[in-house]
Amino acid sequence: MSEACANGVKTAAVGAFRVLKRGGTALDAVETAVRALEDDPAFDAGRGSVLNAGGEVELDAVVMDGRTLAAGAVSCVRNIANPVTLARAVMEKTDHVMLTDRGANLFADSVGVATVPSDALVTEHERAEWERHQQYSLGVKSLFNSRWDHDTVGAVALDCHGDVACATSTGGIRNKMVGRVGDSPIIGCGGYADNRVGAVSCTGHGESIMKVTLASRILFHIEQGRSPSEAVESCLQYMAERVKGGGGVIAVTRSGDWVARFTTERMAWAAAEGDVLSYGLDPKEVIRERLPL
Ligand code: ASP
Repeated sequence: MSEACANGVKTAAVGAFRVLKRGGTALDAVETAVRALEDDPAFDAGRGSVLNAGGEVELDAVVMDGRTLAAGAVSCVRNIANPVTLARAVMEKTDHVMLTDRGANLFADSVGVATVPSDALVTEHERAEWERHQQYSLGVKSLFNSRWDHDTVGAVALDCHGDVACATSTGGIRNKMVGRVGDSPIIGCGGYADNRVGAVSCTGHGESIMKVTLASRILFHIEQGRSPSEAVESCLQYMAERVKGGGGVIAVTRSGDWVARFTTERMAWAAAEGDVLSYGLDPKEVIRERLPL
């Protein structure tokens, strides 16, 4: 699974970088990356998502444009293969920021975002994991608030116009209550993008991330003059101390400094810059290769 995740993030980063190389926007780049990760069953987003207590997928996603602070999100969608694209349509084609459940589906139909049978998003691996977890009698809270690795997906980008964007997409946390919405689609929690500072995408224990509004907290620290690594490390530390939550973050500033950090055991990440592709999986590992362009 680790190798599949490492390959998945590398492919997504290369795909997004190609978009930027062709002069595409940061928004196009983050959507391209997140769609690739949603299509990859190694991750908890789109196909391969975890199942809720009712044995179904319920997906959340957000996208944000740093130029105007325009944002779009969907929550609790069940049969959309690429929730990030639906979130972008909410941003671009409605006067709202988030649509949920049935309303999100009605909107998807009205704008021609394709639906799939929800079973098509469930992998055999996840069905087996879900059944295994039914045997435990852990309370919902203790089950969620762990240091397990989280496989939510996200992307941040800075384009040649100096614009930033972020996107995050997830199936949430296995065995979550039906209707539970995590941090991922909430602006300022699972992601935030502002051209004046930078862009952030978060993963980890959603309830903890929401309590500390992790994405906007990090950008606030960067705005106050901290480096992206200092900002991310201190905010993850704060979340661990204050609400005992683990998480991971990718961030890029308006000047192109970027960081990937996590307090969970592992988080697959990849970054494309110049002609270098960097990636890693555990906290001490950074591998650098020439970008295959
Ligand atoms: N943050 C996501 C949620 O709580 C889960 C994750 O990042 O894996 O819904």
